[in-house]
Amino acid sequence: MAKKIVVVGEVRDGELRNVSFEAIAAGKTVADGGEVVGVLLGENVSGLSETLIHYGADRVVVVNHKDLKSYTTDAYQQALLQVFDVENPEVVILGHTAIGKDVTPRLAMKANAGLISDAVAIEVEAGKPIFTRPIYSGKAFEKKKVNEGVVFATIRPNNIAALDIDPSRSGDVSTLTVDIKDLRTTIRDVVRKATGGVDLSEANVIVAGGRGVKSKEGFGPLKELADLLGGAVGASRGACDADYCDYGLQIGQTGKVVTPDLYFAIGISGAIQHLAGMSNSKVIVAINKDPEAPIFEVADYGIVGDLFEIVPILTQELKNSLV
Ligand code: FAD
Repeated sequence: MAKKIVVVGEVRDGELRNVSFEAIAAGKTVADGGEVVGVLLGENVSGLSETLIHYGADRVVVVNHKDLKSYTTDAYQQALLQVFDVENPEVVILGHTAIGKDVTPRLAMKANAGLISDAVAIEVEAGKPIFTRPIYSGKAFEKKKVNEGVVFATIRPNNIAALDIDPSRSGDVSTLTVDIKDLRTTIRDVVRKATGGVDLSEANVIVAGGRGVKSKEGFGPLKELADLLGGAVGASRGACDADYCDYGLQIGQTGKVVTPDLYFAIGISGAIQHLAGMSNSKVIVAINKDPEAPIFEVADYGIVGDLFEIVPILTQELKNSLV
């Protein structure tokens, strides 16, 4: 049965994040021929509406408000609840990002609705969306559905393929005026850590280093390899705890969960808490001098040896193959 789906787009630095397009693709599956409504929140975000439509949204609702310039739980929650009052969606989809993880459970609770978080696949059975999500730190998957009422879902970035962009698509864009009041949090300034480069949670290639990298400088060759492959640098908690890199790069149970096409685990032992963040990567390459390191159990390709010898050789070979 055709459904109305609301997909909340996520904007960072004036650009829509890829997960927004993946959420639209998920919405299309769930809508079963119904309508997918994109929602954009921000201070001046109307210009991004067309992109959402080109990626498959049937129409877009834009909420421009000065208090939505930077994310705060209160302001987003208030604005989105007012959007849902007008739209009455049957399913609401957001990315399983820092914002999605924070606001979606609150919205579901306020709307007295069901919540399924961190979905990696969606199918429809007898008109109901069935969500596949990893459990036990990614060792197994479960299928979940909400039996009655509205469903809120977050989808893990890099798992559900976005539709091909179609610049010929058109759709209605409307603005909704919302009332935001009694905010408990005000953002005075946003100071970004200078990690730069490709966004870790959406990167197709990740070159991650562990305590075996031994120093901040040791991450230099990993960065060179990542740059060559158009990827991002990540790290184990071991490397972050040792102050070789910023905690913003940590991958794992208490760090970011990533699903790139290619994941290099370099000087990382493969503790269960690290695997929780990367074991669903499509291809895993491990480099470790210990042949018994548990990382080799999840690796598709394993290289036993000294990372300080292997990484420069790998980078040079790649450079040779690229000329
Ligand atoms: P180590 O375990 O010390 O491994 C270093 C590896 O480098 C070894 O396998 C060694 O053989 C190899 N090596 C050393 N020198 C070289 C060389 N020259 N060449 C090649 N290989 C070399 N960890 C995470 O990563 N992410 C998390 O989110 C996370 N959350 C946690 C949450 C909790 C509640 C707890 C208790 C722990 C958590 N941890 C997490 C920590 C986790 O248990 C491990 O301690 C951590 O992952 C180890 O990091 P590591 O593999 O870099 O270091």
